Amino acid sequence: TDTDTADEAVRATCDDASVCKRFATSKSYWKDPYIQYFVRSVGERKAPEINRGYYARVQGVKYLLDAFIKKTECDCQIINLGAGLDTTFWRLKDEKLMPRKFFEVDFPTVVARKIHYIKTKSPLSKPIIETHSTDALLLDGQSLDSDRYCIIGADLRDISNMDEKLKKFQLDPELPTLLLSECVMVYMTPLQSSNLAHWAAETFHTAMFINYEQVNMGDRFGQVMIENLQRRQCTLAGVESCQSLDSQKERFLRTGWEHADALDMITVYSMLPQDDVARIESLEFLDERELLQQLLQHYSICWATKDKLNLGLSQLTF
Ligand code: SAM
Repeated sequence: TDTDTADEAVRATCDDASVCKRFATSKSYWKDPYIQYFVRSVGERKAPEINRGYYARVQGVKYLLDAFIKKTECDCQIINLGAGLDTTFWRLKDEKLMPRKFFEVDFPTVVARKIHYIKTKSPLSKPIIETHSTDALLLDGQSLDSDRYCIIGADLRDISNMDEKLKKFQLDPELPTLLLSECVMVYMTPLQSSNLAHWAAETFHTAMFINYEQVNMGDRFGQVMIENLQRRQCTLAGVESCQSLDSQKERFLRTGWEHADALDMITVYSMLPQDDVARIESLEFLDERELLQQLLQHYSICWATKDKLNLGLSQLTF
């Protein structure tokens, strides 16, 4: 059916993200020793502005995520929604910033692939086994559950099913919780993504939601971005919520979050540690600075908090 084709195209986007991250790390934009186990070859060259865009995305999300973990002194849990082949769990383990438990959710077929990579590559499986206490580690085609890492196959548009699965694997509503969605909500309708934001606000009393995705899609450049994705059969059901920074914040403020902030990636890029920005800008010559500006202007990070435990989550910023 059309829905199956559209969903299949959306699932394929996890490879795009990881292939671009793999290429950027091969050029030393940042370090990721684990991505090679999910994307075997470096692949074809990507333009410097693409690499810088991914740098801003990865560093921007990392900045807020690490700030949350430090604020909660690792006494927290993380849920990566539409995690794809993301490697954050392994980085946090290495950097001694591991939360109590790290959850990942994606479509069952994506999860099955990820579990296959984890099972067959010891640098991926070792950290999971090492942090697991009892011998019974739950593993089937669609889910893997250990003490500190859990990955489940579920559709983010079917909240009750996802909620049930997460609870089955000891999701703890009482624990400060970070929810992350990186280039995921744009593939859902505004109603579906609002439902997701609402579920999170309802489930956790102390939480932060970080959402990275397209913004300012109403102009000519945004139109071209949409057309490029549509050419690959991807329906951008959520593009209406990507009109402005305000619409990004509204999604959270209307669904039970106390506080929300949003910045476009030009601003984030200018607020990242500038010595490292100078380092990456010297890696490759960038001909068209204008194009980078356009690109960064069409992505944003939005973050929302609620804070019953008064941890000071609303102060977290760049
Ligand atoms: N967050 C990862 C990253 O940034 O590297 C992957 C991003 S990829 C562009 C989008 C991911 O969201 C894909 O892995 C896709 O399968 C997942 N996704 C999109 N809609 C979903 C849904 N309704 N249920 C579960 N996963 C979904």
